[in-house]
Amino acid sequence: MTSNIQINILDNTLWAKCIALVSFLLLCNFASANDEPYPQNYQAAQALINNIKLNEIDYLQNEDKLAQAFKISREQNWEKLHLEAAALYAELLFRQEKYEELNTHLSYYLKNKELPNQKSVHLLFLESQLKSLARKSNPAPALILATKLEESLQQYSTKEKIIILRALAYYYTDTDGLKKTLNVALEGLELALKDDDSASQGYFFRKIADAYNYLNEKDKAVYYAKKAVEAYEKTQDELFTAKAYWSLSNVLLEIKKPKDALIYLNKALFYFKKVNAQKGLTFAQYSIASIEYLQANYDRALTLTKENIELARSADIYDMQLASLILLADIYIKLDLLVQANEANDEVFLKLDKFSRSIYKAEFLSKRYELKRHLNYTDEAFEAIEQKLLYTKKHYEATSENNIKTLQVKFEVKEQEEKIQQLEYAKDISELQAKEEYQQKIIWRLSAAIAFILVIVSFFLFYKQARQRQKYHDISLTDYLTNSPNRRGIMRAAEAKLDEGKMTIAIVDLDYFKKVNDQFGHDVGDLVLIAFVKAVKETLSGDHQFGRYGGEEWLFALNSVDELAIRNIFDQLATRFTEHCSNIKDLPSDTKITFSVGASVSSPLKSTLDVLIKHADKLLYKAKENGRNQVVVD
Ligand code: GH3
Ligand code: MG
Ligand code: MG
Repeated sequence: MTSNIQINILDNTLWAKCIALVSFLLLCNFASANDEPYPQNYQAAQALINNIKLNEIDYLQNEDKLAQAFKISREQNWEKLHLEAAALYAELLFRQEKYEELNTHLSYYLKNKELPNQKSVHLLFLESQLKSLARKSNPAPALILATKLEESLQQYSTKEKIIILRALAYYYTDTDGLKKTLNVALEGLELALKDDDSASQGYFFRKIADAYNYLNEKDKAVYYAKKAVEAYEKTQDELFTAKAYWSLSNVLLEIKKPKDALIYLNKALFYFKKVNAQKGLTFAQYSIASIEYLQANYDRALTLTKENIELARSADIYDMQLASLILLADIYIKLDLLVQANEANDEVFLKLDKFSRSIYKAEFLSKRYELKRHLNYTDEAFEAIEQKLLYTKKHYEATSENNIKTLQVKFEVKEQEEKIQQLEYAKDISELQAKEEYQQKIIWRLSAAIAFILVIVSFFLFYKQARQRQKYHDISLTDYLTNSPNRRGIMRAAEAKLDEGKMTIAIVDLDYFKKVNDQFGHDVGDLVLIAFVKAVKETLSGDHQFGRYGGEEWLFALNSVDELAIRNIFDQLATRFTEHCSNIKDLPSDTKITFSVGASVSSPLKSTLDVLIKHADKLLYKAKENGRNQVVVD
């Protein structure tokens, strides 16, 4: 409960902050717009022109300011700046679709003697000129200019080449030259990517997307259309951002993804409205009507389409007028209003020449054929199909879209596309590389640390295991009670000593040990055994070995073969044993415990351990028989 309230408070304050921030930004915007509404001096005019040129602000949204910069630079005779303003003004006129005015403007400025000295400004004028000429019914002048620009391309810098390729991409799109469009757009894209020119990238991406759309490569069309949107979103060129969204939604519509299309279409509408582009609005509305049609909302589609036909008519946008009429006929057909469908179809047919593309004509004519067949207007149906074939052929010729040529186009552009993708990736990659190197470093460090830990742990476990093994080994060779070698241990040691050379095997047996147990208890017996081992350890030097052979019997493997030395050892042992026994609390001090020894000295006849032990055993027996507490050596 408490945490919910806290969140609410947090939300509220956050909202308040957001609102305050937005209001502040709006105010700032408003204030700055009011502060400097129109460029009044050279610097301001220059700044405005630069901003527009770099697409940092939109042409249409700043049309008045640009007009002012254009005017003031002329009045003040800032000739260089004026030409630059005039070049941008030409683009503005084009965007405003004021084609007549654009023609006059261009023919006036293209005569300017200073213009060829300002190379890139000159090229901007030529770009506008080519776009303007491409719209005219006589194709010759546009073709001449396009050829001239294309031939001169190599002599220019990257930025200048981009302008030319932009102009050519427009020209070839407009004249159905798909292969050429792809070629120049890809070349332009490569340069724009290198030059970090987002607006031009967007332009070329869109041209490529359109070309692939016509080539019916929808996947690629979607890919490039998305790229165009992405690039334009980085600029402030609102009109072209709108167009990019519109193109993308159109392809999506064609591949029957109306829902996705609608999302982008609304974006397009938003931007078209922002710059008040009538034409764009009709295009977007047409697409929305198409979506309604595709989703079987025929009544809604009908209303929208009728509205749009009027809008397109009043704005003289023929392609849209015709496209909407075709859509209208389709809707009527779905509503089973065939008479109305027929009327709409006839209207399109009459205005067929107004269509800019052969493919549009061909597509319409095949629809017309279907409708006329359905209505049994056989003559008109055949006329439609005949014409359809004609335009299809024309389209194929113009777009190089018969199979072989399409393949050729694809092949030729493939190489370029790869280059561009490489360029695009190169940018991402340098960022990714840095990231990856960093990650790699961390991975290396982690791996090294883990490896180190593993090695240490392995070593530790290995060491532990080895120690444990050694421990088991030692345990298996040690007598538990006295902590001296057991039978196996002393046998092994004796065997090894025998291999080294001469030696003596002695067996020691405590005398009357049963009695000790019986009189003083088993525990005292144990202590006596321990005392014996203590005494042995103090007596024997490092070279001699001994161990518990069984019960209270001990086996000694002595280096010495000298009888005196041997007797000496056991004498000393006896003395020490007595000493240690006297320290046993429960053993009365007057108790004397002795031992008997049979010591067998190795010789050629007694060379194996087995023989030596057996002989020692016999000698021990002798010692016992002779009254115990003595050493018999042989
Ligand atoms: P002898 O002089 O003839 O050797 O007489 P003995 O009593 O020592 O006879 P023997 O060697 O046959 O007896 C060995 C005794 O040692 C038997 C057993 O009760 C005792 N003994 C064997 N192992 C242990 C042990 O670990 N602890 C104790 N307290 N006694 C042991
Ligand atoms: Mg015994
Ligand atoms: Mg004994």
